[in-house]
Amino acid sequence: MAIEKTFLMIKPDGVKRQVIGDIVDRFERRGFELKGAKLMVATREIAEAHYAEHADKPFFGELVEFITSGPVFAMVWEGESVISLARIMMGATKPSDSQPGTIRGDYAVTISENVIHGSDSPASAEREINLWFAGELV
Ligand code: ADP
Ligand code: MG
Repeated sequence: MAIEKTFLMIKPDGVKRQVIGDIVDRFERRGFELKGAKLMVATREIAEAHYAEHADKPFFGELVEFITSGPVFAMVWEGESVISLARIMMGATKPSDSQPGTIRGDYAVTISENVIHGSDSPASAEREINLWFAGELV
């Protein structure tokens, strides 16, 4: 048994398209527990820190612009192997690889505006939860 926590975030395109309810429903039905959630506009500082691993990529500027362009829905979820299972439920980053039935495979056709973020490892989950929910979890 590995009960984990992960950080998931519905990006501005997902909030605009009003799919928060569907996405929360998918994780609840799978058996995960919502531990924290907030609708917020990310500051440039938090967006740059969140995506620091991509700071050298050509798309970094556009990525920070996009993620700060409107409200995001930031969440912490808990459950058995939730970090890797949430990534599978999200679908692949590249639209040509994201399968129907996954969140990205159902809702996204571009690599940049792809509806959802999810931590990719225990270390990133811890870092991202501390960044977005510092001292806020019950
Ligand atoms: P993931 O979100 O699946 O973990 P990455 O960590 O590789 O994917 O990239 C972070 C985010 O940066 C992606 O979700 C996407 O929004 C954006 N991104 C990744 N690759 C590109 C690209 N080639 N062009 C534009 N945006 C990209
Ligand atoms: Mg990533």
